[in-house]
Amino acid sequence: MTARKKSQRSELVIVERDGAINHRPAAIPPNQRKLTFGDRWSYAPAPEASDYIKIGPRYQLFIGGKFVAPRSGKYFDSINPATEEKLAEIADANAHDVDLAVSSARRAYNGTWKKMSGRERGKYLYRIARLIQEKSRELAVLETMDGGKTIKESRDIDLPLVAAHFFYYAGWADKLEYAFPGRTPHSLGVAGQIIPWNFPLLMAAWKLAPALACGNTCVLKPAETTSITAMHLAEIFQHAELPDGVVNIITGAGATGKAIVDHPNIDKIAFTGSTSVGKLLTQAVAGTKKKLTLELGGKAANIIFEDAPIDQAVEGIISGIYFNQGHVCCAGSRLFVQEGIFATVIRKLRDRIATLRVGNPLDKNTDIGAINSRMQLDKICELVDSGLKQGAKLVQPRLRLPAKGYWYPPSFFTGVTASHRIAQEEIFGPVLSVMTFRTPEEAIERANNTPYGLSAGVWTDKGSKIFKIVNKLRAGVVWANTYNKFDPTSPFGGYKESGFGREGGVHGLLPYLTLN
Ligand code: NDP
Repeated sequence: MTARKKSQRSELVIVERDGAINHRPAAIPPNQRKLTFGDRWSYAPAPEASDYIKIGPRYQLFIGGKFVAPRSGKYFDSINPATEEKLAEIADANAHDVDLAVSSARRAYNGTWKKMSGRERGKYLYRIARLIQEKSRELAVLETMDGGKTIKESRDIDLPLVAAHFFYYAGWADKLEYAFPGRTPHSLGVAGQIIPWNFPLLMAAWKLAPALACGNTCVLKPAETTSITAMHLAEIFQHAELPDGVVNIITGAGATGKAIVDHPNIDKIAFTGSTSVGKLLTQAVAGTKKKLTLELGGKAANIIFEDAPIDQAVEGIISGIYFNQGHVCCAGSRLFVQEGIFATVIRKLRDRIATLRVGNPLDKNTDIGAINSRMQLDKICELVDSGLKQGAKLVQPRLRLPAKGYWYPPSFFTGVTASHRIAQEEIFGPVLSVMTFRTPEEAIERANNTPYGLSAGVWTDKGSKIFKIVNKLRAGVVWANTYNKFDPTSPFGGYKESGFGREGGVHGLLPYLTLN
């Protein structure tokens, strides 16, 4: 067969001027490349089994190693945000219940945990980590049912990280003096720990594992909308035969959290949540001896330079903002694109969000699950409305969302200016604000132009540029050519209104110790 005949049969065979055949695919300029969709992107349903999951009709408080009814006598409903069905009733602890939990933690601290060697404490933590691994599939399904996050995230990201945090800090329990050479570490006492609803089990692990490794006892309050998995974690503590009272878990709303913060017999408060509540906590502990760490909101800049690998960067944008429905404090919610590649990035982003599947979080193919609560959905809608009113342009794929449950499609805004609310406030949903820049200096200035300072991302082909930029970004965590990567060995925390103190790594031990 002649070269000419061959070239006529395939579009990908290019006959060059001298007649030689080049079998490389024709290079399509980046600004003309396009994903083709059609029905090739639809998948058959792949639901995760949930019929074996046992959800009790009522969850009590976990105090002194036992499940006890709240003195308040009150309960509230926990709803599956994907179906709006009631899953269970949760005990609503009042100040009296908080007092019982704190007393139990104090007794366990003085009676057992403080006296125990680090080696023995470590054994309990290893045992807890292994039990979490054993039950991880069940816990992942529960996490998805209670909070709306996709099963692929709770199964492949949250639960492995939960176990990894316990394993990691188990390793430190008998090596604290090596973590701080020349110093003598001492535990603090009773830690009050208040966590949010976006990563319920993972935030519990971030708080409990280092506190216990350092020899403290704990009173943990999960968020109102996602308390169920914390109570299953309490069962794991029972199975691990953790001494009674070392961890106490009390459920309730903001008032319960406030009662923990105000309790005089608590030595340390660790909080993850909104900046507004973080400010209240700062006022509440001022003038007391309580130590405080705050992990608050963020409005991270994800910066894409012209020399970045664009397709990878687009994937980084997707995971940066649409991971966990955008309910992520370090979400890359402000995208800064260098002007020369703006049109290309927007086109690719528009194409890519059209491929994201929104719906049943228990389906293994779902990319974006349910918004955690009606209240959070209302907040997202209100901020999106403000963006439209202030003149930004919204891009959203056309989707058929389930009739029941709380949903929001993956979306992004162009035409955003720094003064828009959508460029300043945490939307905490799958909504991205896209802006442009010309020079690295402008990117740095605009990225830092926020009251927050939790995280950032930089995408470029040049290592030197990465070093130059990351050193000037006022953010606790900066990812280079990746986004939203977590590891128990790596510290996490913010500057400015994103809080203070670090969780994870050796740094994560410090908030739970005094050093002599
Ligand atoms: P909150 O800050 O209100 O909640 C975080 C935790 O604090 C929950 O356990 C909450 O209890 C508890 N809490 C509420 N009020 C008090 C108080 N006065 N004293 C002590 N504890 C308290 O966050 P929201 O759930 O209301 O979310 C609001 C916004 O906060 C979100 O839209 C998002 O922008 C941001 N946020 C940021 C998070 C982050 O990781 N940085 C995480 C969650 C939210 P309860 O849930 O029962 O009210």
